[in-house]
Amino acid sequence: MLDKVRSMREKDYYEILGVSRDASQEEIKKAYRKLARKYHPDVNPGDKEAEEKFKLINEAFEVLGNPEKRSAYDQFGYAPGEESHAGRGFSGFEDLFRGFGFDDIFDVFSFGEGRHRHAQGADLKFDLEISLEDAFRGMETEISIPRFSECSSCGGSGARPGTSPAKCPKCGGTGEIRIVKRNSFMQTINISQCDRCDGKGEVIEFPCNKCGGTGMERREGKVRVKIPPGVEDGHYLRLAGQGEPGSGSGPPGDLYIIIHIKEHPVFERHGSDLFCKAVIDLPTAVLGGSIEIPTLSGKARIRIPPGTQSHTVFRLRGQGMPRLRENGRGDLLVKVVVDIPKKLSREQKELMERFSKTMSRKRETVKGFFERLKERVRD
Ligand SMILES: [Zn+2]
Ligand SMILES: [Zn+2]
Repeated sequence: MLDKVRSMREKDYYEILGVSRDASQEEIKKAYRKLARKYHPDVNPGDKEAEEKFKLINEAFEVLGNPEKRSAYDQFGYAPGEESHAGRGFSGFEDLFRGFGFDDIFDVFSFGEGRHRHAQGADLKFDLEISLEDAFRGMETEISIPRFSECSSCGGSGARPGTSPAKCPKCGGTGEIRIVKRNSFMQTINISQCDRCDGKGEVIEFPCNKCGGTGMERREGKVRVKIPPGVEDGHYLRLAGQGEPGSGSGPPGDLYIIIHIKEHPVFERHGSDLFCKAVIDLPTAVLGGSIEIPTLSGKARIRIPPGTQSHTVFRLRGQGMPRLRENGRGDLLVKVVVDIPKKLSREQKELMERFSKTMSRKRETVKGFFERLKERVRD
């Protein structure tokens, strides 16, 4: 099901940052900084094109700069939590954008911890296809979600079993680099995140073979989902805390299950109403009668009054879809189509001709109508 997401990829993040697919995290970071400095809105005030470019660069870095998201992007063509359904409640691009300011690009961090140490896990989305009958009754199902969890080989440390991460030689384990500048008037201390250990304070000398040092592994996880009756195509369920795990003590992300309802061979749905077509024969249309039609809960009968025209719509109250968050059901609308026989027996033909003679006066009126129409066309 995650295959569907692949087609959503429109932007090549590697191309946007101008790096190769096997670029190291360091190279990606460098490319990002260079481009971000060039296109930052503060450097290009009022330049819309630069602003758009800056947004794209940030979006690309938000994914490629994060080993977990990058791995998901490489594998599935999207990053968990990436905005793809505007207005459907995913962590939006705007949020990603807001998190990056001028300061980040120029390496000025607030005193204390590096900002990515305790990050919330990414949101996941899953497309679930169900039948109209499932949507009618509601259902419970179990789905498999491939998501990142702690690497089973290294327990999440990222270091090869038997080894452990070492204190970062560049920052001495603090995760920060302090640069002191002095001039004749004052002294400024610039504190930035250590670029060797990304502010973690430790480095992995021997990365775990299984996870490549990320400490994360993609595993199938089972999730039980309850779909309420009356659910509509495009609705989603949000399962809080069922997304990717957070890093450090950060909380996990959420899981969004997006409902797709398969086309039904008989019924067409419009909100809580259902539509279907029923074919009746000529005598039933002319003389009246009763027909049986299927509904999602069984069968129903419609009384056809004498003289029913083809394409007349009958409404069966309460025979449609259940209303979500409300009581009752919508209606079933049945369009009756009259079947005109194409082949008649000799007896039927004779009867039809005799019937036709009784209609001769009416036909003349029809002829008159066509003549009037011709005259109008001539004008
Ligand atoms: Zn590992
Ligand atoms: Zn360091």
